[in-house]
Amino acid sequence: MTGPSYVQATPGGPWATYLEQVDRVRPYLGPLERWVETLRRPKRALIVDIPIILDDGTVGHFEGYRVQHNLTRGPGKGGVRFHRDVSLEEVMALAAWMTIKNAAVNLPFGGAKGGVRVDPAAVSMRELEKITRRFTSEIGNIIGPNRDIPAPDVNTNAQIMAWMMDTYSMNAGGTITGVVTGKPLDLGGSVGRPKATGRGVFIIGQEAAKRQQVPLDDARVVLQGFGNVGSAAAELFDEHGARVIAVQDHTGTVFHENRLDIGKLQQHVIETGGVAGFEGGELIAPLDFWEIGCEFLVPAALEGVLDEPRARKIDARIVIEAANGPTTPEADDVLHDRGILVVPDVIANAGGVTVSYFEWVQDFSSFFWSEEEINARLDRILLVAFRHVCATAERLGISLRTAAFVVACSRVLAAREERGLYP
Ligand code: NAD
Repeated sequence: MTGPSYVQATPGGPWATYLEQVDRVRPYLGPLERWVETLRRPKRALIVDIPIILDDGTVGHFEGYRVQHNLTRGPGKGGVRFHRDVSLEEVMALAAWMTIKNAAVNLPFGGAKGGVRVDPAAVSMRELEKITRRFTSEIGNIIGPNRDIPAPDVNTNAQIMAWMMDTYSMNAGGTITGVVTGKPLDLGGSVGRPKATGRGVFIIGQEAAKRQQVPLDDARVVLQGFGNVGSAAAELFDEHGARVIAVQDHTGTVFHENRLDIGKLQQHVIETGGVAGFEGGELIAPLDFWEIGCEFLVPAALEGVLDEPRARKIDARIVIEAANGPTTPEADDVLHDRGILVVPDVIANAGGVTVSYFEWVQDFSSFFWSEEEINARLDRILLVAFRHVCATAERLGISLRTAAFVVACSRVLAAREERGLYP
């Protein structure tokens, strides 16, 4: 008998998408299938109130979450997102995708994720620091280098990780750098971490292109999201002969039929906060973005953006999921039927967590590697993981996403079986 869950998945929402992805894997799990309910429930979910004194002297309250979806294979690992619309359900899905990602790439971590419901643009730096510190203190009992290790995600960065590390360390009475990754270099951060996710997107994209016989030279790339991940991926595609012809972010969509100048666009975004107003391209209607002809479509912003109607319209050879959960299950089916290869998020964007793993290892040993070493190890781990997923997909005649889930779920559930159940 299994009792009902309090949390109901909103139809079409990220948790429903994740549950459906898990259901698709059941037929391929063999005897491990008896453990599958483990993956359908987060191990632990914490909701915290974050009260702070605002700059005007009044008291503000923000809601924060930390979800540890699964800790069977190691401590929790996953980012912290600051966003106006972040919700427990979203964080649950993101934590679950971290379980799958860490297992798919064979990192010794479980899956976790955090979020604070705040619009960072609407608070001052001082207020942001207070929110970060109080949030860290509130989740302090369940995080730690051997428990759960947060990292940056949407709207969080190295500075926020530094505040988290400092707060945790102050509470613990010693400097504990390994509690978060994605820290500044001075505080035990790793070289290569800021661009690692974008690098992974490119490395996997390059390998996928070889498999699809799509030459990289002159290939057209269309990107949604030009933040940490999107801009680093754009830079590498551009450096290797591909042409980024369209970029969409929260401020608008810019298009150039030949090639956007990535360096200038990055500078423009630093100066103005978004791609809108960039003079090296024309501003087009956001909805037209999904119909631009290209070889690579790279969603690198938020989840759920590639739905069924958009999947029918897109004109791409390969979709590389730099964002987490950008494609709905219905869209997945349409893209599969249309012969468009979808490289799933759990492999495509695993570069960040892989270098976070390196950072965590380096912090434990207090011995730091060179950027060349980091990048070589990163490329090797990602390519081994991707090739294993491709071989699984071919062997079972399934999509890359289902194959990545088969590989990952089998690893997590085998570990579950080996550990046995407490008590
Ligand atoms: P970021 O905050 O640096 O950038 C987010 C980008 O998305 C910005 O360009 C923003 O303008 C754009 N965006 C936001 N709302 C949008 C909208 N409604 N329409 C179009 N664009 C919009 O975040 P990031 O770190 O680059 O993360 C992007 C995605 O990659 C997320 O899904 C995140 O979970 C995933 N991811 C990030 C990492 C990492 O290391 N940072 C690792 C793995 C996965």
